[in-house]
Amino acid sequence: MCPHTPRCPDPEEPDREAARTVVSHPEQGWSLLCNGIVVFEDTGELLPGGTAIPPHRPTDLFALPSSSAVASSHIPAA
Ligand SMILES: [Zn+2]
Repeated sequence: MCPHTPRCPDPEEPDREAARTVVSHPEQGWSLLCNGIVVFEDTGELLPGGTAIPPHRPTDLFALPSSSAVASSHIPAA
């Protein structure tokens, strides 16, 4: 079902997320990959067979600056 060359990874393969995006709905927070996987913006996935994969990559990297700002508030101003 994949028209791409080289062929996109199968949903069972570890690099399944490398498949091309065929439908993207960022406003709804999900994308459909060429191999049938639905990827959500929180990195959760829904496989073609109905298997759900929980979010597995950090999406809160933007929170690091605020936590470091809290830490820096404990540093006396020079
Ligand atoms: Zn493909």
